Amino acid sequence: MASCEIRVDSPRVKYTGERIETEYDYQTTAVFNEGDEHRPKYKIVPETRKLLIRTETRLPRLGVMLVGWGGNNGSTITAALLANRLKLSWPTKEGVKHANWFGSLIEASTVRLGECQGKDVYAPISCLLPIVRPDDIEIDGWDISAANLAEAMARAKVLDVNLQQQLVPHMRQMKPRKSIYYPDFIAANQESRSNNVLRGTMQQHLDTIRGDIADFKARKSLDTVVVLWTANTERFAEILPGVNDTADNLLRSIAHGHSEISPSTVFAVAAALEGCTYLNGSPQNTFVPGALELAERQGTFVGGDDFKSGQTKLKSVLVDFLVSAGIKPVSIVSYNHLGNNDGYNLSAPAQFRSKEISKSNVVDDMVESNPILYKKGEKPDHCVVIKYVPYVGDSKRAMDEYTSEILMGGQNTIVVHNTCEDSLLASPIILDLVLLAELCSRVSFKSLDGPGADAAEFQSFRSVLSVLSYLLKAPLAPNDAPVVNALFKQRCAIENILKACVGLPPESNMLLEHRLRSFRR
Ligand code: NAD
Repeated sequence: MASCEIRVDSPRVKYTGERIETEYDYQTTAVFNEGDEHRPKYKIVPETRKLLIRTETRLPRLGVMLVGWGGNNGSTITAALLANRLKLSWPTKEGVKHANWFGSLIEASTVRLGECQGKDVYAPISCLLPIVRPDDIEIDGWDISAANLAEAMARAKVLDVNLQQQLVPHMRQMKPRKSIYYPDFIAANQESRSNNVLRGTMQQHLDTIRGDIADFKARKSLDTVVVLWTANTERFAEILPGVNDTADNLLRSIAHGHSEISPSTVFAVAAALEGCTYLNGSPQNTFVPGALELAERQGTFVGGDDFKSGQTKLKSVLVDFLVSAGIKPVSIVSYNHLGNNDGYNLSAPAQFRSKEISKSNVVDDMVESNPILYKKGEKPDHCVVIKYVPYVGDSKRAMDEYTSEILMGGQNTIVVHNTCEDSLLASPIILDLVLLAELCSRVSFKSLDGPGADAAEFQSFRSVLSVLSYLLKAPLAPNDAPVVNALFKQRCAIENILKACVGLPPESNMLLEHRLRSFRR
């Protein structure tokens, strides 16, 4: 389906030239335990909150700046944007292939709108609301390696050579800006590619990155820029009182060049100070408390951590399925081997540790949801191994074994073997992160009931965009909010929020019109 238009016919939905405004009943429940922990007695009160949801429909001129632009992901997403914009086709031994966005939630998945003459009608998610077209995105970025994007694409060995040949003339002139290199944060084995680095103090680095963002914005006449980290995985930074625990301390520590401030945090600070959304596609703790406070203070959005592309995505489906089927996973063992530069960097213990942490908490919410299967605090054994095997390049192998307890002490073991080009999975996720984050920045809410509703003002999403969690392995959520890892809950959240913006109810899957004999429209 090329494109489609959706218009909701309801007195509660108003389309003006500049925005869509909808009066929306948000239905939720408040639960009270009138028993105790051992013998709970729940009182549940259904609640309806009346909201006015406003979506600005004018699309901005959008630019994306990638940190790690010359990496496998950076060069692959750049190539995919160009190949789609140029509508490229290329011959392969399996026939002619055409540019597409398979793997993108926004560009290649659909939502059910309802029924037309007894048949379900589906439309691309991108039709629900005005969303920036990938073809209109401008791209730029930084890398500690000076290779231009055509060289970076060849180095990545991801795309078919016939496609590469067509893209070379478009990518040759794309050169990453100089970046921040603090060798202590990424593996020592990355040093040999660091020939494009900024000199000077940490404060000068921050100022240069801010200048780069402003320069890109001005040169391309952009309304908004999203900065996204797809550079190497860093080691975790220590959270030190007085250093990176508050926004002011963090800014002071950068001015003094404190050794515990990572490059990715300097980028996060630069983005916040330039009013840009900052997204973190790697596992490290870029968003130290000071960086989060700064984003909140600046009114900018952040999202992270670590793209959820392959093994973890499947895990967040499979464990959800098992636990919600009343089956008890007791051991989850995940082996990976890969031979790209990401794998090379992760072969160093401190960087592997970041990835291990990011991968290890992904089943927590599902396990905690079922106290019949798991006692308080009980978790399945969960082990993650990553090995660097150069020959397999970007084609990562992921092998998982899930052992579960079933009826009457029986055991069920599921083994999954997944082989896939890592960057072809990550690139559509980069696109989705950028498009969704931009869309979220145009949506605001106003409470129409409850105390103080008369004086209430429109408020945007909170600074930490937890709605992006579908795309992220270790999703950030605001301090007082739950972290959701289960994939279908995450997807439903996106779908239902987008539907709410045009006054449509959440997808309930109740299908009463088919289950009852006397149901009438
Ligand atoms: P890559 O090694 O090919 O690319 C990373 C790039 O970052 C390199 O070009 C490197 O020179 C550059 N770099 C390192 N430090 C930098 C800095 N301070 N500033 C600017 N550039 C810097 O790796 P990749 O395969 O593209 O993956 C990128 C990141 O995404 C990794 O951290 C990886 O763990 C994460 N990730 C990837 C996937 C996936 O499926 N591909 C999934 C989840 C997370």
